[in-house]
Amino acid sequence: MDDSKRLTEKEKAKLDNLFKALSIVGAGKYIFLCDLKKNVSRWSKTAVNYFALPGEYMYDAGNIWEQHIHPDDREKYHDSIEKVFSGVNAGHDMQYRAQNAEGRYVICSCRGMVLSDEDGNDRYFGGSITNIGGSDLQDPLTGLRNQYGLFDDLKLILQKEQPCLIMMVGINSFSQINNIYGYEFGDRLIMEVGARLRDLSSETCQLYHFDGSRFVVVSDKSSVDCFTKGYAKFTDDLANFGQMDGKRLSLSASAGMLILNFFGGDVQSLLSCLNYSFDESKRRRNGDLVIFDNKLDGNKKATLDKIATIRSCITQNFAGFSLNYQPVVNAEDERIVGAEALLRWQNDEYGMVPPNDFIPVLERDNLFPKLGRWILRQALTDAKEFIRRDPNFVINVNASYSQFEKSNFVADVVEALKETGVLPKNLCIEITERCRLLDLEQLKQITRDLRAMGVRIAMDDFGTGFSSINTLRHINVDVVKIDREFIKNIEADRRDCGLVRIITELSSVFGAKVCVEGIENERTAEIIRPYGVFSMQGYLFSKPVCFKDFCALNVQLNQK
Ligand code: C2E
Ligand code: MG
Ligand code: MG
Repeated sequence: MDDSKRLTEKEKAKLDNLFKALSIVGAGKYIFLCDLKKNVSRWSKTAVNYFALPGEYMYDAGNIWEQHIHPDDREKYHDSIEKVFSGVNAGHDMQYRAQNAEGRYVICSCRGMVLSDEDGNDRYFGGSITNIGGSDLQDPLTGLRNQYGLFDDLKLILQKEQPCLIMMVGINSFSQINNIYGYEFGDRLIMEVGARLRDLSSETCQLYHFDGSRFVVVSDKSSVDCFTKGYAKFTDDLANFGQMDGKRLSLSASAGMLILNFFGGDVQSLLSCLNYSFDESKRRRNGDLVIFDNKLDGNKKATLDKIATIRSCITQNFAGFSLNYQPVVNAEDERIVGAEALLRWQNDEYGMVPPNDFIPVLERDNLFPKLGRWILRQALTDAKEFIRRDPNFVINVNASYSQFEKSNFVADVVEALKETGVLPKNLCIEITERCRLLDLEQLKQITRDLRAMGVRIAMDDFGTGFSSINTLRHINVDVVKIDREFIKNIEADRRDCGLVRIITELSSVFGAKVCVEGIENERTAEIIRPYGVFSMQGYLFSKPVCFKDFCALNVQLNQK
């Protein structure tokens, strides 16, 4: 600092005195006082430490402070300060987000005013800053609105029936980055990614930090093309991310998008569909942008409305839900050895909606475990009658991703068995393909606990999707179910016979029996039988039927 900018002893004493006076007034706040003639300020020591400022006495503190203010708030701050100095306003009173020593943004309420000297000239600018901290709608890390802010904004959009585009973007393998480099590094990365997304988003977009490494962009003005190009640019940028803290990073992303047009539902349904398309991008589409088009179906009803109706039925005592049962027969003599419980949903407006139309979307929904518990209880209650007739009868119940993800799945099974009085050996839990996307350790633990109780485990949809063989290597299962995909062309394509043989051999290596699904005719059954499969399921024996019909069928088939 050159001498002309240095405070004289007298000036310093005056600044300190005034500062002291302000400090009394503003106890519990940060105080700042600037000698405008010399542009030298004094700031509270607590502020210096909290925001990592250069010192209690700073030259050009206004500029230094401005660098701490969130980029989105800087203009607002600048305007306000300028109005004070130009005499338009006598003081300023505003809120902005400022970055603290840890790099997090906190909300600050700032009040300041200009004080004149004895000659009436503007001489000091002083005031207080109150650290409000993070707000419940704002993420302190990025300074962006958080998911609660998003929920609020989406509610408004829905109220106004405003067509818009909603995109969820996330960094792949972010938890690995946290594990390798630590959470502090992870936090800084989130801030950096947030900043890059902000740069990419146009002014018509609102950006949110959803959770972890996920961000959401909403716009009622942008086009699908704009979003697609923006995402392509973003992924390019991530692939060439460059260095951070001396670490060279090459990152990738996943993204799901929702085209919201005709929709009278709620925010949660909307998020279920958004989560679903994001998950599809991440797990199956290698990060390609997956678009959930809320198109109209045959009933002139948009898909989202249907999801919203189904969700509300879950909360209304499972209105419209029922279970059908499809027999599982012994491959040798075709006697019924068990049944698979299959979910159905019917409603006046939509008719009978097949489970594949809504289970994949709702699987990640918070409500699904509730439905899952209902399915389990209902299936076990109905199975009591089947077991009464055949004590070795096994009821198969499909479990979904979100049920396994929740830590209390095993406890739910224990409770349902206890309540219904069904023995564990009469229950088989089917791990569907999407469950296998879960963390292997978690899957191992759940299946180990269930098998320890005597509950059987079947691996459903074997051979479809990812990681069937790897899962089989790591978890013990009682039954491997070969998907219909491998069976449907078996008459025409003998290579599929080879696949069935290999899967059967592989399963026996791991001590599992094989059930072949989708047997539609006698010829297919004949082709399959020599391969040593244990059981079969398919329209040849029966389509899935309601409880009453299954009871009748049970008698019929077993008396053949
Ligand atoms: P999945 O568990 O593999 O169930 C077998 C599906 O194949 C059923 O379809 C069944 O109706 C159908 N199927 C059986 N035999 C034949 C056949 O010979 N030919 C043909 N073309 N299809 C046959 P569904 O009931 O539509 O269920 C589809 C999927 O939805 C199920 O596949 C399962 O992944 C899921 N799902 C059904 N119910 C539940 C449930 O209660 N919970 C969970 N988490 N998922 C369920
Ligand atoms: Mg199944
Ligand atoms: Mg299956």
